[in-house]
Amino acid sequence: MTIAANGFDFHCHVDLFPDPPALIAHCDCNRIVTIAVTTTPKAWTQNRRWTKCSSFVIPAIGLHPELADKRHAEIALVEQLMPETPFVGEIGLDGSPPHRNTLPIQKEVFSRALQSAQRLGARVLTIHSRRAGREVLASLAEHTTAVRVLPILHWFSDSVATAIEAARFGCYFSINHRMLAADTGVSLIKSLPADRLLTETDAPFTEIENRKSEPRDVTAIISRLAQLRNLPIEDMKRTVTANAERVLAFAGVSIPVADN
Ligand code: MN
Repeated sequence: MTIAANGFDFHCHVDLFPDPPALIAHCDCNRIVTIAVTTTPKAWTQNRRWTKCSSFVIPAIGLHPELADKRHAEIALVEQLMPETPFVGEIGLDGSPPHRNTLPIQKEVFSRALQSAQRLGARVLTIHSRRAGREVLASLAEHTTAVRVLPILHWFSDSVATAIEAARFGCYFSINHRMLAADTGVSLIKSLPADRLLTETDAPFTEIENRKSEPRDVTAIISRLAQLRNLPIEDMKRTVTANAERVLAFAGVSIPVADN
């Protein structure tokens, strides 16, 4: 049997690394499917250019909620470019103290991104929801349906109850190293349905072994997930792979099969 991919990084800021083309080459070489999120649609053209010849790195069009206040006009560019990729991110809402006061404009920007995704259909979203889990869910429920949009909650840090509700709504969850190290992350991981678990790094914003994480580090997350859920590593890997393939199929993306 051929192994199509060795791992999946559903949320990585490839363009914030010092040498993005080198990182992309690593992802291809190590067969790590990586969603390259963007924080502004102005980064789209460059990301698409870098990933053009890559089989494993897929660029996403986004406008980060922390930038929504100053860059809200760029939502028009997100709408314009969204037909070019089935992946949308980083988008979402941030209700933490430094950004709470911009929530109204964040909601406006997020809603427009959701409406575009819903209109186009077959869109997979990678969503930021810090201190705004319930608000994110409310926006998703208002603007999207499960047949047209598949939401992934990235680095989810809200309550387990909200997570369960989100899973019922159809959300997936991408888990990173930092979540594995936090009590809230651990209880979340233990409570979520197995068929909604995915992996991510949010690199370069997470660390592993005192260095910045990279997409290839997702394989270590699988081992820890297996441990937390009392499963053999191989079973956990099979589950996450099946989940990832379901998400990619929703987006109309097929993973290249290994040549050997
Ligand atoms: Mn991020």
